[in-house]
Amino acid sequence: MDEYSSRDLGFKELFNILIIFHNICKLNTNPAKRHSMKTSLPVRALCVKCLKAQVTCLCRSVKKFKTRFQIVLLQHPMERRKAIGTARMTHLSIENSKLICGKDFNDHSQVKALIANPDHHCVVLFPGLNSFNLSHAPQNERLNLFPSQKKLVVFVIDGTWASAKRMLRDSENLLALPQICFTPQKLSEYKIRQQPMKHCVSTIEAVHQLLGLLEPSVPADDLLVLFREMVELQVQHFNRNQVLESSPIELP
Ligand SMILES: [Zn+2]
Repeated sequence: MDEYSSRDLGFKELFNILIIFHNICKLNTNPAKRHSMKTSLPVRALCVKCLKAQVTCLCRSVKKFKTRFQIVLLQHPMERRKAIGTARMTHLSIENSKLICGKDFNDHSQVKALIANPDHHCVVLFPGLNSFNLSHAPQNERLNLFPSQKKLVVFVIDGTWASAKRMLRDSENLLALPQICFTPQKLSEYKIRQQPMKHCVSTIEAVHQLLGLLEPSVPADDLLVLFREMVELQVQHFNRNQVLESSPIELP
């Protein structure tokens, strides 16, 4: 008897769970209800250039410049729409840079063409075990590290530390290239995004430091000014939302 009732209760519970699951599915697939759920939330207008919310758009503050060498930003798809991402702002600032989105670049036509070009000397900015540390080379010798008759192309990976490692591991064409790195001069100012390790910096900070080492004649500090403005704006936006979320709800 006891055994039967406990089994019966089990079936009842399972049935109730199925009913709840069915109702959730109905709610998610019912266009009218979905619409009402959607319309109750404010729609975020995005800037088509930087893909950030218009309230945090900083396109007006972008100061464009060109570099002698080619910077290619390889962005993980997860970073593309992140409000706190910095690769797109870097790309908008450096006119002759490229921004390519993907995870595995083995068969990526643009990446393959850049690497296959005999006039290019391609390297990856990544702090691997065999990476050459530019900070250790005297300033007047840094450019002599690369063949002068070829154009230097630097691939910069934009992703979390874990995803950047995976992107490189999965892209054999990139993994075969020489790696360069630098010793960060100071800790990241990226206070809105926690860095996994003390020496990790955001993509825009990494490019700023790279330019300082390889091409000090360009106005690379403009990147840092833009980055600081972006961080401040995000902090203000976050604080404003926190205040709104903690405000008491007014009942009708
Ligand atoms: Zn914008």
